[in-house]
Amino acid sequence: MTYVFPPPPRVALPVIGNDALFPVRRVYCVGRNYADHAVEMGADSREPPFFFSKPPDALVAGGGDVPYPPLTGNLQHEVELVVALAAGGAQIPVARALDCVFGYAVGLDLTRRDVQQRAKDKGHPWDMAKGFDHSAPIGAIVPLTASGHPAQGAIQLRVNGQLRQNGDLGQMSWKVAEVIANLSTHVRLEAGDLIFTGTPAGVSTVARGDLLEAVVAGVGELTVRLI
Ligand code: MN
Repeated sequence: MTYVFPPPPRVALPVIGNDALFPVRRVYCVGRNYADHAVEMGADSREPPFFFSKPPDALVAGGGDVPYPPLTGNLQHEVELVVALAAGGAQIPVARALDCVFGYAVGLDLTRRDVQQRAKDKGHPWDMAKGFDHSAPIGAIVPLTASGHPAQGAIQLRVNGQLRQNGDLGQMSWKVAEVIANLSTHVRLEAGDLIFTGTPAGVSTVARGDLLEAVVAGVGELTVRLI
């Protein structure tokens, strides 16, 4: 096979304790999956899960310096547990959903909140609010053998050392198995898919120069500097 120009490089993430990389296929995200964040966004916490996606090349492996995006005056952080899949399927039962998991990572769902609010007001899509370049910093994937399935424990984000988000994985409205099962009713999932599972309350506006430190208990840490 030849191409009319060189194809873009395969997006892949490092795996803790493994020299081989995790090849990324798709990046899905769950909206409003912690009751307290749903309330701060003005929603009913009992709504069924809904999904959006980011392009795989919006991932920033390992964090580090992340450029402040254009066309926003209100960039916000959302610290999230990310599920990495080693298998997929359609109509996956909840009882078998965790069998698809390869491991977990710490992710940031960076959001142009002002762009998102205008999109909500007009019924427009969220892509430019959520799927912009460098919008998904993510740490190395921790394989299941090391992480287990984290269902409880701190999920936190600090900005310049100040605690802004301080949640617990146990507050997730839709648990990881339910998220996988529900998403697989919409689309066929495959090995290489990532799912950002939502954020607890405390999202706030950040600026150029800010240091963002995310941590998920049992999974790891992720540090980003906005430049
Ligand atoms: Mn999010």
